[in-house]
Amino acid sequence: MKYPANQMEFEDMFKTEQNCVDYLFSIRWPYGFECPVCCSIRYWKKNKGRFECSDCHAETTITNGTIFHKSTKPLLVWFRAIWWMIAQKNGVSAKGLQKILGLGSYQTAWSWLHKFRRLMVLSGRTKLQGAVEVDEVLVGGKKSGKRGRGAEGKSLIAVAIEVKGRKTGRVRLTKIPDASSESLNKFIEDNIEKTSTILTDGWPSYSNLSKMGYVHKIQKTAVKHEDEEALPNVHRIASLLKRWLLGTHQSYLNKNKLEYYLDEYVFRYNRRTSTSRGLLFLRLIEQAVITDPVSYEKIINQNHGC
Ligand SMILES: [Zn+2]
Repeated sequence: MKYPANQMEFEDMFKTEQNCVDYLFSIRWPYGFECPVCCSIRYWKKNKGRFECSDCHAETTITNGTIFHKSTKPLLVWFRAIWWMIAQKNGVSAKGLQKILGLGSYQTAWSWLHKFRRLMVLSGRTKLQGAVEVDEVLVGGKKSGKRGRGAEGKSLIAVAIEVKGRKTGRVRLTKIPDASSESLNKFIEDNIEKTSTILTDGWPSYSNLSKMGYVHKIQKTAVKHEDEEALPNVHRIASLLKRWLLGTHQSYLNKNKLEYYLDEYVFRYNRRTSTSRGLLFLRLIEQAVITDPVSYEKIINQNHGC
């Protein structure tokens, strides 16, 4: 599938609304149109991205059932918003998006960014493998908390990161309710390939990993209470994450949206060395056509994974 290599190509590829419609068509119906009602492949092309089935005469729009569902804004604006979001290395604010696209309402910009975050867990992504550091970290809140019991105003995040010699590979972050073995085992099984080597500290909740089919290595520290030394990569990513949350999403703790910010962070981190902005754009558009529509009300009220 073709994608723009740079800003110039982006502007060249998407000059008109029809350009965007044709692009979505090639991604949504790569083998040609198929009527969602009767599965016929015969159709009439109408304007504004509408298609009429030649057999049952049902009309369908290219954006039907996608993340762009029933939007009054042109696809041109949507495409530019996605392109811009990807271009910003350190994340984006709704105010910034509103300004750059000249959107009338802050709420629109805010809800669009949340829609885009829902595209950032790519379907078919593979689990982490090899040597993987795992730990839990607390983010947010003012007081420091005790492990396993949580702390007021803080959220507990499970962190897993591939270690490749002196470099790091991919990362996964998930908000977990507590540091019990139940929560941590689930996080590990969901995110790490069996037979991988898991590096943790001596926290008892990790004691079942060998039985679960992993190679488990407990990292001991030379200095007591200094687990930064035992799991340096987890702690580096945790401090980067905290700084990013504070810098870009100051209000992240108030809105039950932390998990979505984690998804965005993971998407950005795992593609930090990607030189192709266009490929990331294509990946998000591909996700957009298979992701169910979500309303503004739902974005406000819904928690992650519901
Ligand atoms: Zn039909």
